[in-house]
Amino acid sequence: MRGRLVCPFCRHVQEPTPQPEPCPRCQVPLRYELPPSTVSWRGLAGRGVWRYRPFLPSVAPVSLGEGGTPLIPSSRLGPQLGARLHFKLEGANPTGSFKDRGASVLVSVLAAFGARRVADDSSGNAGAALAAYAARAGLAAVLFVPTHASTKKLAQIQAYGAELVTVPGPRPQATAAAKEACQNSTDLLYASHNESPYFEVGLRTVAYELAEELSGEPPDHVLVPVGGGGLFLGLVRGFLELADLGLISNVPRVHAVQAEACAPIVRAWEQGLAAPEPVCPGKTVAEGVCIPLPPRGREILATLREVKGVALAVAEEEIEAAWRELPVREGIYVEPTSAVAVAGLRRLCAAGVIEPGERVVVVLTGTGLKHSPAGSGD
Ligand SMILES: *Cc1c(COP(=O)(O)O)cnc(C)c1O
Ligand SMILES: [Zn+2]
Repeated sequence: MRGRLVCPFCRHVQEPTPQPEPCPRCQVPLRYELPPSTVSWRGLAGRGVWRYRPFLPSVAPVSLGEGGTPLIPSSRLGPQLGARLHFKLEGANPTGSFKDRGASVLVSVLAAFGARRVADDSSGNAGAALAAYAARAGLAAVLFVPTHASTKKLAQIQAYGAELVTVPGPRPQATAAAKEACQNSTDLLYASHNESPYFEVGLRTVAYELAEELSGEPPDHVLVPVGGGGLFLGLVRGFLELADLGLISNVPRVHAVQAEACAPIVRAWEQGLAAPEPVCPGKTVAEGVCIPLPPRGREILATLREVKGVALAVAEEEIEAAWRELPVREGIYVEPTSAVAVAGLRRLCAAGVIEPGERVVVVLTGTGLKHSPAGSGD
């Protein structure tokens, strides 16, 4: 498989396995690392995630054409805020969110290991992505979902033929149920979007695309909504890899935006803690970032410091306002979770963290088409 699994803190190293355990010393998920100097920009071919095969595990791709998403300039918001703003439209992926990048790489790796059944816990987009790629590879998928998941996302997961297991109680109960089912089964593999190193590798391709499209001159700032933090970590890791190879001139400041209703990373950040403490989530329209205790929290906090990023939380009114503004003023319909990053952009411009004329990319993580506005009876 070429790469190795490494602990981001103590550098414990192990060979890739289908279902890697956390670091035995630090109890954090391992990360996939390539041996240095085995990759270069030369030899890239095709478009989308698998264009970057030299950076990915060397397995046969299970692909639906993910990645290669549009990067478009903002027409009104950027000029209004004085930023040179681009949006990365991840809703254009095959199942409607950036999770396809991770699911494509993860399912490809698991299929190469001979997997037959895979499981994850998800409130929607990750479940839809895993279900789609599992179907594509001819694997069975079991999705553990909290009871409050959106009906359109559940319908999508089921359409791909996945088995749905509804888990009552708060979101972490679904995680516990998925892990338990995998432990008690001889052939069910835990294909976690929040913990699997292979999933995070796929998310690094967002950074590769931004670097290539902006001709080796990445933006000054990138903003992403953060739940489990895979997207944040993948983006930063991707940029750091390219910087190590001398392929980009600067590593952007990547900022982590959370909903106030569930902001464990921001709380830990503000208190200067090394690792987050679990929060008791309130109600939020940003269902995709409602993760009370991200398994990679410690790595997210260390990584924020490494790239001079900021962690900030935005209120429900700000998320709603950003979500309503995007389609009207930019022609872009996203799900409310994606609007979290736009609300964060307003804050960082107002606070002077983002200065006039700086180059900014906001990753718009998922399409609005799966969203059911409250009261629609859906
Ligand atoms: C999963 C998801 C996020 C959060 O990404 P993480 O990698 O969990 O931090 C943000 N937006 C949407 C639409 C998502 O589906
Ligand atoms: Zn360790």
